Amino acid sequence: MADSRLSERKPSAKIPFIDLAAQQRRFKPELDRAIARVLEGGNYIMGREVAELEGQLAAFAGARHCISCANGTDALQLVLMAEDIGPGDAVIVPTFTFVATAEAVMERRATPVFADVDASTFNLCVDSLKRCVAQARAAGLRPRAVIAVDLFGLPADYRAINEIASTEGLTVIADAAQAFGAARNGAKVGGMAKYTTTSFFPAKPLGCYGDGGAIFTDDDDARALLDSLRFHGKGTHKYENIRIGLSSRLDTLQAAILIEKLKIFPEEIESRNRIADRYTAALANNAVAVPRVPDGALSVWAQYTLILPEGIDRESLQRSLQESGVPTVVYYPNPLHLMGVYASNPVDPDGVPVSEMLAKRVLSLPMHAYLTTDTQGYIVDRVREVLGRSS
Ligand SMILES: *Cc1c(COP(=O)(O)O)cnc(C)c1O
Repeated sequence: MADSRLSERKPSAKIPFIDLAAQQRRFKPELDRAIARVLEGGNYIMGREVAELEGQLAAFAGARHCISCANGTDALQLVLMAEDIGPGDAVIVPTFTFVATAEAVMERRATPVFADVDASTFNLCVDSLKRCVAQARAAGLRPRAVIAVDLFGLPADYRAINEIASTEGLTVIADAAQAFGAARNGAKVGGMAKYTTTSFFPAKPLGCYGDGGAIFTDDDDARALLDSLRFHGKGTHKYENIRIGLSSRLDTLQAAILIEKLKIFPEEIESRNRIADRYTAALANNAVAVPRVPDGALSVWAQYTLILPEGIDRESLQRSLQESGVPTVVYYPNPLHLMGVYASNPVDPDGVPVSEMLAKRVLSLPMHAYLTTDTQGYIVDRVREVLGRSS
């Protein structure tokens, strides 16, 4: 960025939005050995690596238990099953999130109630949470839980959320699909809510090479229940089934891959933070709002997301950037309460204006641990250029 002539040269290779190939080059021999060991062992379901990974993830997160499962959506659904949440129950969720947060609630035939988010953190607004609890009661529903989302890698404000939840009798579930490895106020993701769920979808900060997910909890009874639920409701024996569960396990192969990825993950988190800081230093004061990390918080930067100026033509801006070879993505163009299948659920009675504004104006830039200074400099110059042109 110091030398703008340098960064005017378009990088010779296509700029990826997320560069999983660069990561793989870094640890390919270890990866090959880990995969070969699983193939030799032949225990493809619940093999040794699954329990080994669960122990490592729990230690990393500072949680007593980690229960792995098939994906991040199942992780949410398993928690809702463990809490026996179903028809007539309301679960407060932010409307500005990936659809899975609310979909898991719908799967249980419970009712998501859509809350607004804060513009500066993209996370659940606690005042909106309170209004949604009252709204749920007014609609004749039992408010049972809140699913806060650690959107784009930043943990939500669990101090405030846990406090409201204890007053209102809600179970707190952290949807940390985008935030494993993050921290806030001295606690790591996995130890801030009664339940924390995460996803190992390849594009997440800690991703595998397929689908995968996990649940963290300190509660021994919940752990035993979740272990049964992920395996067809097994009792003490796997062919003695004592409840209705799911078929939702993490593959041994994916566990082996994650064990290798976890080794380089702390370094990757540092790298993502350096890259985010560079974006912020270069883009603040350019008619865009840059993401803000509250004091005492560590983000893992699943996304680096700008808020564009009001009234800007986002699509043409994206097209201009794409023509210069800079890929961008809109996470998320539709708040959930405006999408057909979710449109009949209750919403904060004061409305969700921040979510509706963000859906129109957010734009995420390429973000991964292997983004070079040169490529990032090029991206930043192109973004400044198109912003300058459209303002
Ligand atoms: C990715 C994601 C999920 C779902 O994870 P899958 O593993 O794809 O099922 C849930 N919530 C949020 C916020 C996500 O980003």
